[in-house]
Amino acid sequence: MTGRDETVESGPREKCGVVGVSLGERPAALPTYYALYALQHRGQESAGIVTHDGFQQHDHVEMGLVGDAFDEDDIEALQGSAAIGHVRYPTAGSVDKSCAQPFTVSFKGGALGLSHNGNLVNAASVRDELAASGHAFTSDGDTEVIAHDLARNLLEEDLVRAVKRTMNRIHGSYALTISHDDTILGVRDPEGNRPLCIGAVDDGYVLASESAAIDTLGGTLVRDVRPGELVVLHEDGSGFDSYQLVERDNTAHCFFEHVYFARPDSTIDGELVYEVRRELGRKLWEESNVESDVVMPVPDSGRAFASGYADASQEGDGEGVEFAEGLMKNRYVGRTFIMPTQEARERAVRLKLNPIRSTVEGKSVTIIDDSIVRGTTSNQLVQLVREAGAEEVHIRIGAPAIVAPCYMGIDMATRDELIAAEQSADEIAEQIGADSLSYLSVDAVTEALGRSRADLCLGCVTGEYPYDIDGETTDRDVRRPTAGADAPADD
Ligand code: AMP
Repeated sequence: MTGRDETVESGPREKCGVVGVSLGERPAALPTYYALYALQHRGQESAGIVTHDGFQQHDHVEMGLVGDAFDEDDIEALQGSAAIGHVRYPTAGSVDKSCAQPFTVSFKGGALGLSHNGNLVNAASVRDELAASGHAFTSDGDTEVIAHDLARNLLEEDLVRAVKRTMNRIHGSYALTISHDDTILGVRDPEGNRPLCIGAVDDGYVLASESAAIDTLGGTLVRDVRPGELVVLHEDGSGFDSYQLVERDNTAHCFFEHVYFARPDSTIDGELVYEVRRELGRKLWEESNVESDVVMPVPDSGRAFASGYADASQEGDGEGVEFAEGLMKNRYVGRTFIMPTQEARERAVRLKLNPIRSTVEGKSVTIIDDSIVRGTTSNQLVQLVREAGAEEVHIRIGAPAIVAPCYMGIDMATRDELIAAEQSADEIAEQIGADSLSYLSVDAVTEALGRSRADLCLGCVTGEYPYDIDGETTDRDVRRPTAGADAPADD
């Protein structure tokens, strides 16, 4: 590793969606496909499904969106009532099928499939050790590292002990769905950094990154997978077993899931994302209100913030600020964030967003977005809205300033690219031509989430991480496994 801003050790940062399905009789491929559709926002680079029919594993993994990656025949060919699925987030420079998932391995102990959301911080050292003992790797991703480690352990231990051994070996963030022959497992890292939940459907059980996927299947959210827990779905779809394999004193849930990444209609770790965003919007009003004529969201993720902001404003003594849809989004434009050049990113913001003149002309407007990363979106929006006749433009952000990279699975940017790493809110406002710019405080985030700082990963906004990362500051004693006897307990 040459600098602080590189991906931790090797391998791409993977911000993805995972699914696991175990049904009594019915083929699991179609529900897995629908669940992946519901998680499309978590990854657009590739989509894949692995099934097992009791005798044989089947897989289909393609680059592109879920709707393009599979046709009817593909789904038909994916036989068996056990399945896992994956959608992969595009990360700069890695548009390579070798990183597409689920990852599969066939070995003496059976057939393994693995879907991973997250990022290991010690993948390189585990990889070196496995390579030294004869394991050959085909990709540079950390998912393959987990798959090989697990396969090795499965040759020596039963399933539960093998998973526990792997969990004690790997560090970092991981929400995993695993198929071992026709048994489907869900594993969440001991800090619960990335989300994973369990749902019940008519004839079986489902694991998914977000509860919206369970809703899509007409199922019911049972609960979140607990940090450090292994969930084993019964092959006949009748239930699941739970094993608390690793315990920590604190969690490190990613606050950015609630701010930006997750769907607003998902419930993550007991909180409905939409309500958290509305609460963050209310706090934004309390902390840095400005009596403009209208408040308008950057669609889509700014909507809940702006509605909370407008509501809070109308509860005060003054008239309050009217909520308005002042920016229209062209939904066919991909994420501006991943465009390789700055010019392309700027063009993409204009392709994606266009102001409604009557909402902004002659008015003082407040624009709410969920975050500022490089500053491209805010910069372009200020110009666009001014061109459409706005008199004053205020920017409010539903998250604290992002000052440091994410090593835990969100492809954010390097420190050099983060506009807030070196500049204050006032300096940025001046640079982008806004009348004012304010972020939310870290305390507002912890209050809205109802969790203490010690239970959240706030690394990108504090520069202090709950993991031991080379060249970065740790915000607590880096926790190693403290519990979990050799014989795992059922519950
Ligand atoms: P920027 O334009 O670089 O300041 O990025 C901020 C915009 O990108 C906001 O509108 C966010 O909604 C969005 N955004 C924030 N984080 C990410 C991410 N990890 N991937 C893609 N888009 C993001």
